[in-house]
Amino acid sequence: MRKITVRRTLDASLAERLTGDLNESQRAAVTAPPGYQLILAGPGSGKTRVIVHRVAYLIATGIPAGSIMLVTFTRRAAREMVDRLGALVGQDASQVWSGTFHHIANRLLRSSAEVLGYTPRFSILDSEDQLDLIRLAMDDAGLSDAGSMTPKPAVIRRLISLHVNLRRPLGEVVSEQGEAIARWRSEIEAVAAAFETRKKAADSMDYDDLLVNWDRLVREFPEERDRQAGRFRQFLIDEMQDANSLQVGVVESIAEAGSGCLTAVGDDAQSIYGFRGASADNILGFPQRHPGARVFHLDVNYRSTPQVVAFTRASIRNNRRGFPKDLVSALPAGPIPLVVAAQDGQEEAAFIAQEILEGRDRGTALSRMAVLYRSHHDGILIQGELLSRRIPYMVRSGQRFFEQAHIKDVTAYLRIIQNPRDLASWRRLLLHLPGVGAATSGAIAERLIQAPDPLAALESAETMALAPSRGKGYLAGFVMDLKRVRESDPVKNPAAAITAVMAGGYSSAIRLLYEHADERLADIEQFAILAAKYDSLERLTANLLLSGDLHAGDLEGDSGGQDAIVLSTIHQAKGLEWSRVFVPRLVEESFPHGRALDEPEGEDEERRIFYVAVSRAQHELILTYPLTVSRGGRGSFLARPSRFLLELDPGLVEWAEVGSEFDLGDSPPRPANSARDR
Ligand code: ATP
Ligand code: MG
Repeated sequence: MRKITVRRTLDASLAERLTGDLNESQRAAVTAPPGYQLILAGPGSGKTRVIVHRVAYLIATGIPAGSIMLVTFTRRAAREMVDRLGALVGQDASQVWSGTFHHIANRLLRSSAEVLGYTPRFSILDSEDQLDLIRLAMDDAGLSDAGSMTPKPAVIRRLISLHVNLRRPLGEVVSEQGEAIARWRSEIEAVAAAFETRKKAADSMDYDDLLVNWDRLVREFPEERDRQAGRFRQFLIDEMQDANSLQVGVVESIAEAGSGCLTAVGDDAQSIYGFRGASADNILGFPQRHPGARVFHLDVNYRSTPQVVAFTRASIRNNRRGFPKDLVSALPAGPIPLVVAAQDGQEEAAFIAQEILEGRDRGTALSRMAVLYRSHHDGILIQGELLSRRIPYMVRSGQRFFEQAHIKDVTAYLRIIQNPRDLASWRRLLLHLPGVGAATSGAIAERLIQAPDPLAALESAETMALAPSRGKGYLAGFVMDLKRVRESDPVKNPAAAITAVMAGGYSSAIRLLYEHADERLADIEQFAILAAKYDSLERLTANLLLSGDLHAGDLEGDSGGQDAIVLSTIHQAKGLEWSRVFVPRLVEESFPHGRALDEPEGEDEERRIFYVAVSRAQHELILTYPLTVSRGGRGSFLARPSRFLLELDPGLVEWAEVGSEFDLGDSPPRPANSARDR
């Protein structure tokens, strides 16, 4: 049948609305004719604005909203994009296929799952479910009893995920790990195979499977590929530097099979997901993969003051590799970035909290400020300080600190001493004993809390009889640990109680229970430092652990309509912006992160993370570092300021130091003066 295309001309007032507030190069990118486009530009230059306006423009020129795929890497960035689009095109925004790669893969797979041997109702495994299945798969492969050096389920999960996302054979990925892991190569391959079988039998996909199966649909089933190629007429990818080759590959092959219309947006200098297989090469290689692609550069920064732009530009120039981009700020001058030294982490946190309050007093809403840190535990002392000053905050770095499994474990010991009938804490800790599963821990816990003295009942012959033989020795150790914690007088001295917990079996159990044990141990150290401020366990729990009401719904990013400051890891802050940005803990080992420096190109990746952080600031950038850091029971050490501060021309920042003064009364110590007069 002959196809007739109706050409629509854009109504002049609509065209003005969609492109009027864009500069010339932005407008050229928004209105570019069909084909491949690459927008390669620095932070704050309007890349996301261009991509959102382009979607609106395409809809206005008659492309059905439902045939547009708008995709990005993190959930938060996706939400930001969809919100901006909604503001521009209203209802049509909901028709656009927008979201993360995983989100879109899931939607597409629902209608084609049967082709791959799943039902349309397949389940998606979260990371806990995934670990459960890996444990079973280890049993299947005969690995679980192979001795204490056996790779942990979480380690195997990470290796399988790397193999999938890097699109490289599992054996190769395993062989590149240290010898301790590499020698398990064939066993890990067997576990991976058993894991696949188990997932299939359970009609389940994990997150990586969503991508792999989408890719399989497109590569192995031409009719499926053609169906998708026919459905989508325009593809747009934001933050492409964070996507890996699997994600980019699948979208590009659908585009190639069909419309050949793909707009990619990104900044190689902001590529910070290398640990998940992302590579800036995906974006830098775009023109080679698509000869004839139009490339746009945007060179005006509309987000940040000239002072912030000068600072960020100088910093990233220290990286050896990278596509050069020079941005000019469109904003009026603002304060020069401030670098503040504090005596220690407590004082650093107190300074930040005080600055936040002063900022609010001067008229900046809390939601226009953010504290962005390198690692989740860098934010703990700050959370404590905000809580004790009743400053509402929202945590955007995964779980809230006090909801993390290992912190819940440690507090479970304290809670049992405080309230020996705390069923949940008993169950939680009993589950750590070898051979004890949900049923046994439940049965023992129920018995204990009905006994007149649960702690005594734990030692009884009846309890021992309930424990499986493998767990009996550990049960005796657990009894000892609890006694030690009780003797440390946790009710009056919670910090000592935490130290007592860590002197027992938990400090080695943590390595068997979880991945990233060192990070978790560092978290617990921070927890002990924070607890030292409290002379009663009850006050600690009330102040820190039960603050749920004030911050309910945090994980959803919802502070119940309350004005709240954002606490986030830098990785979760991609694409976002705040008027005042604080970056704490700028000392060597913390930022750049000690272990990251051992990786090839590790320093450059760390500097890109720093670059992403500082380029979130619109008006004020406040960088802080402690002069000393505590390493748990091992005392305080002098810290070295981060190389990211020292390598810069001193004229780009103002240096300051906090001095503390104690208030009378029971409020926590606070710096008497702000670091500078404003
Ligand atoms: P990042 O690399 O951090 O994701 P980006 O390049 O995507 O940054 P945007 O978030 O799109 O930048 O834009 C930064 C800010 O500048 C936003 O607040 C945006 O609304 C504003 N902006 C962009 N272009 C213009 C313009 N032409 N006029 C006015 N404001 C603009
Ligand atoms: Mg952006």
